[in-house]
Amino acid sequence: MRTPYYLIDEAALERNLKILASVRKRAGVKILLAQKAFSAFDTYPLVSKYLDGTTASGLYEARLAHEEMPTRENHVFNPAFTDEEFAEVTKWCDHIVLNSVSQTRRFTRLLNRLTAQSLNRPSLGLRVNPGYSEVSTEIYNPCVKGSRLGVPRAFIQEGDLDGVEGLHFHTMCEQGADVLARTLPHFEEKFGEFLPQMKWVNFGGGHHITKKGYDIALLVKTLKDFRKRHPNLEVYLEPGEAIALNAGTLVASVREVFDYGTPIAILDASAECHMPDVIEMPYRPPIKGAGLPGEKRYTYRLGGPTCLAGDVIGDYSFARRLKPGDEVVFGDMAIYTMVKNNTFNGMPLPSIAIKRKSGRIGLLRAFGYEDFKRRLGRYDVDF
Ligand SMILES: *Cc1c(COP(=O)(O)O)cnc(C)c1O
Repeated sequence: MRTPYYLIDEAALERNLKILASVRKRAGVKILLAQKAFSAFDTYPLVSKYLDGTTASGLYEARLAHEEMPTRENHVFNPAFTDEEFAEVTKWCDHIVLNSVSQTRRFTRLLNRLTAQSLNRPSLGLRVNPGYSEVSTEIYNPCVKGSRLGVPRAFIQEGDLDGVEGLHFHTMCEQGADVLARTLPHFEEKFGEFLPQMKWVNFGGGHHITKKGYDIALLVKTLKDFRKRHPNLEVYLEPGEAIALNAGTLVASVREVFDYGTPIAILDASAECHMPDVIEMPYRPPIKGAGLPGEKRYTYRLGGPTCLAGDVIGDYSFARRLKPGDEVVFGDMAIYTMVKNNTFNGMPLPSIAIKRKSGRIGLLRAFGYEDFKRRLGRYDVDF
C-alpha cells in the first residue's frame, strides 16, 4: 500500500475495550467513547459490544454516533449550542451537557417545547468546574484562570439547576486513578449539595485506564466508594485516548536524506498535518525499531515535507542508514490523528486502513487531490 497510511489494529483496540468493559462491570459505572479522540466508525460495531455508547463534542460527532452506533447511548457536550444545533441533538442524544447557566435556562425551555409531543427526552446536564486539576500543560487544563469550560461553584445560584439532571466535569489528561481520587473530594465539596437532586454524574475523560501500570484496582475502588456515598447516581466516564491507545500506527516512507551539519530525513508524513499533537502537546511518538538520539549508530532528525520550519517529528537513531524508500512506522497513532488531519501546504491525507483480528488488512478510505480542493471552493451562489 502507498504511504503514508494509518493502520488501525483491531486486536489492540479490542484488548483495550476488554479492559474498559471489566472496569465498567466491576465498578458498576458506564463508559463512553469520546469520539473526538477516535472516530473510525468502521470499528463502532466492535466498540458497541464493550462500551455503553459514545460522547460527542458537537453536532457532527453526535450525528456520526447516531448513524453508526444507533444501539448505544449518545451523549454530547458543547461550550455553546445554537438553538438549531440543540434541536438537532435533541433528536439523537440521551444526554446533552451544557456549559453555562444561560444555556441551561434557554434550553430547559426549548427542550420542553421540542419534546412536548415526543417520548424521547434527553437528560440535560451542566459541566461544572471543580477548580482542581493536576494538568500542567495549560492548553489541556480546563481549570486555568479564565477557563471557558465548566461553571465554577460561585456562579451557580438558587434555581440555576432547575431542569438539570446531571453534573459533568472534565479536568484530567492522560492521568492515573490517583488523580481522580484526589479530584473527587474537590468536586463533592463544591457541588455535593446538588448531588441528591441529580440522576447522574460524568467524570469526563483523561483517564489513562489502558496504559501499562495504570492502577485499575484504585479506579474501581474510587468509583465504588463514590457510588456508595451517592447511591442515587449513575456514574459515567468518557475516555477517548484510553480506548484506542496504542491501537494503530502511521506508516511513512523516507523521501530523501541529507546532512548539512545535522543528518535529516524528510518523510512523506508531516508532524503538522498528520500528527499535530506532536507539535501541540508536544510529545515524541515511538518509532518501531528506533532509539533515542545517539542510542543506535545513525541518528537523524525526522521531518515532514511541508514548508513549516517546525515540521519536525523528532530526533531518532537507527541501526542502519536511512535511504529513500525506507519505511518508518510510528506507534500510537490511532488517537488524535485521523480526526485532526489537515491539508496545509496541499499535503495529501494519509489513507486509513485496518488490520482485522484475522490478520487481513482492509482499506477504509484513500484520499486524493479532490479532498484538498473540495474544501476551498469557487464562487457559486450569492451569500
Ligand atoms: C477530550 C475530552 C474527553 C476525552 O479525553 P481523553 O483525554 O481523550 O480521554 C472526554 N470528555 C471531554 C468533555 C473532553 O473534552
